[in-house]
Amino acid sequence: MKTKILVLLSMLLLMGGCVEQEGKPTAQKFKMFQTVDKKDAIILQKGDKKENCIICGMKLPMFYKTNHAATHNGEVRQYCSIHCLAKDKSINKTNLSDIKVVAVDTLKFIPVEDATYVVGSDVRGTMSGLSKYAFEGRMSARRFANKHQGKVMNFDEAYQYALKDFAK
Ligand SMILES: [Zn+2]
Repeated sequence: MKTKILVLLSMLLLMGGCVEQEGKPTAQKFKMFQTVDKKDAIILQKGDKKENCIICGMKLPMFYKTNHAATHNGEVRQYCSIHCLAKDKSINKTNLSDIKVVAVDTLKFIPVEDATYVVGSDVRGTMSGLSKYAFEGRMSARRFANKHQGKVMNFDEAYQYALKDFAK
């Protein structure tokens, strides 16, 4: 009798475990690498639409790890990606200064001159077929590139790749 109850109990436990495991892959499938919780996303620009990319309108926390920011006439503009930054700067010819990027390894904005980019990794990017992620630590960038492929380079080089999205 005692054994029967034990078997029943362990079966129930197992079933419970299965249900929990089934829920997990579905939840992860919709979470992209670049997404962070809204509370962890630093929003530098102001106004009603401050949580949206100033160029394409996409939600900034959802693409946070590729966010860029720049100053125009004393006001901060925030972008979902280097793609939308390049569109504003080189296509729309907006005069921008103080360009910053979110570092994947710290989730903070740093000047692009201090960032090391990994371009063309197997981790999907934002607004471009060729992904581009920035890191504060050069070693962090190298580790990421070792794991996910891609080329390690500076901002100016990564920006040239971003511009290729607009050729043709
Ligand atoms: Zn955008």
